[in-house]
Amino acid sequence: MRLYVCGVTPYDASHLGHVATFLTYDVLVRRLRQLGYRTRLVRNITDLDDPIAPRALQLGVPYAELVEAEVAQFRRDMDQLGMLRPEAEPRVSEMVDETLAFIAELEAAGYLYRVGGTLYFDTARSNVFGTLSGYPEDLRRHYARERGGNPDNPLKRNRFDFVLWRPSRDGEPEIPSRYGPGMPGWHIGCSAMARTLLGTTVDLHGGGIDLMFPHHECEQAQTMAVQTEPFVRTWHHCEFVRYRGEKMSKSLGNIVLARDLLTRHDARTIRLAVLRLYRYTAGFEWRDRDFAAGERLLEILLAAVKAPGGPDPRPWIERVNTAIDDDLDFPTATAELEDLARAVLEGGTDPAGPQAVVELAETLGISPMRPNEGIEVPAP
Ligand SMILES: [Zn+2]
Repeated sequence: MRLYVCGVTPYDASHLGHVATFLTYDVLVRRLRQLGYRTRLVRNITDLDDPIAPRALQLGVPYAELVEAEVAQFRRDMDQLGMLRPEAEPRVSEMVDETLAFIAELEAAGYLYRVGGTLYFDTARSNVFGTLSGYPEDLRRHYARERGGNPDNPLKRNRFDFVLWRPSRDGEPEIPSRYGPGMPGWHIGCSAMARTLLGTTVDLHGGGIDLMFPHHECEQAQTMAVQTEPFVRTWHHCEFVRYRGEKMSKSLGNIVLARDLLTRHDARTIRLAVLRLYRYTAGFEWRDRDFAAGERLLEILLAAVKAPGGPDPRPWIERVNTAIDDDLDFPTATAELEDLARAVLEGGTDPAGPQAVVELAETLGISPMRPNEGIEVPAP
């Protein structure tokens, strides 16, 4: 299974919404491996992107310094949360040659036009642009405005044409290219990285729901402009975590940072607290008291694995796995695991009972035998 998940732009800390998304793919990969699939997960780092330079200027640090600090922090967060490391974690800046080669292919195929020093993709030439999200015009316009698509730029041929290469702005790296010095647009890097590291067709392409338009829509249009094979077999988008009534987002200021949680809680508590509520199709509303439920559940699991015996666990094993296989129904899987742990604590003589608690918890990425399965990475 070839999986491509859009990662982070390293300009700010990860919050619980990111945790829920990456946790979804982490458990998916664990379960796929358990079922005998070989998996290859690529999760990129968008280290050439619009929001980085303004943030670096605001903090008074060089661009590269902010990127390195945030990449290190992100990796530390993911490791501490016990996320399996992806097989590849490419940075856009390391894939500039492949990205420029992709742009050249788009140019040869006639999809590219230039306004000043900026190269755009001509969406009118694409027969797939818009088909992924299926959003109506007003919603597309709304998201394009919100997510850097500049739909009101009168110099473009079509409203949703997007940048492939542009001149660098203040504080940004200037990369030499045949199109002039500058840097790639947001979307083209993912098309280039996915093809370079996974081949023409990706089995599952994931990310937050906010990436569906314009980001994934643009990726699909670019890739399908230069190949006839399908680009993605399954698109997969994770719904938002809400907090205090709204989508958790930095711009609204209602965020819970992973690093703040990790300094105060056992990482397993965070996983459990999220998994018992989060299903990617629905998202959930985080309440601060949800932690207590995660902590209680961890205590129950830890007590159950020390029990000498329990009931025959096979019905619970079946139900936990069925829930995960039922489109990643983590809340049901977690509830069934809790139910097994409680049954074990009520007594029984079958040593397979507590053993099944260990194994099912590990499918969810929680090791009851170790306090923190994450790998400590030294601070930058
Ligand atoms: Zn992406």
